[in-house]
Amino acid sequence: MEIFKIAIDGPAGAGKSSIAKIISDKLNIEYVDSGAIYRAITKKMLDSNIKIDNYDEIENLMNRISIALINGHIFIDDADMTGYIRSREVTELVSPVSSNITVRKRVNRFLNEYSGSKSVIMDGRDIGTVVFPDAKYKFYLDASVTERAKRRYNEQNGDATLEEIKASIEKRDLNDKNKPFGALKIADGAIYIDTTDLSIDEVVEEILKKIK
Ligand code: C5P
Repeated sequence: MEIFKIAIDGPAGAGKSSIAKIISDKLNIEYVDSGAIYRAITKKMLDSNIKIDNYDEIENLMNRISIALINGHIFIDDADMTGYIRSREVTELVSPVSSNITVRKRVNRFLNEYSGSKSVIMDGRDIGTVVFPDAKYKFYLDASVTERAKRRYNEQNGDATLEEIKASIEKRDLNDKNKPFGALKIADGAIYIDTTDLSIDEVVEEILKKIK
């Protein structure tokens, strides 16, 4: 059977994970959420009290931690981090943490080792540009910031206002697009889809049409 990768990049709230999960079911290939790895490392740094500007400690941590992905759960040093990675604290810090080149190299090594010999659909910010530049299929999903903030607002339990979520997304967009390594951008050969006025099913259909 042919092994192939599908790369889905784009900013927060563009619909990447919902859409990638449906496509993974339809094509019977694994879905890998690369952002979850960056989030788990961020949580580990918070727990270990390692500050964002302590490059030596971050490098030490990246050299010694083990990362594992088992049935969609993300483990750092055998501790299941899955339930802790969507907190506001982690969400605020994950973009600066993932700007660190040592962190990016560690995550990219894991992603390549993990999915090396199988077909996967992976979402993130630099999948089509850095992680799998030779992916058979590449997509860039986008939407207006107002629409993306609304989607995130509707997903949460009322902790934050729409304006707070919009501001947080705008800050993360800016940081993600201006990283020295692994910046969010449209990969060469990627198909750009503006999902602002599309339903999840419509985007899934459009992607499946391009794949078939
Ligand atoms: O996808 P998600 O919003 O969970 O990603 C959290 C953060 O992790 C992003 O805002 C980005 O800073 C970082 N990230 C990254 N590269 C990836 C995936 C996520 O830098 N491939």
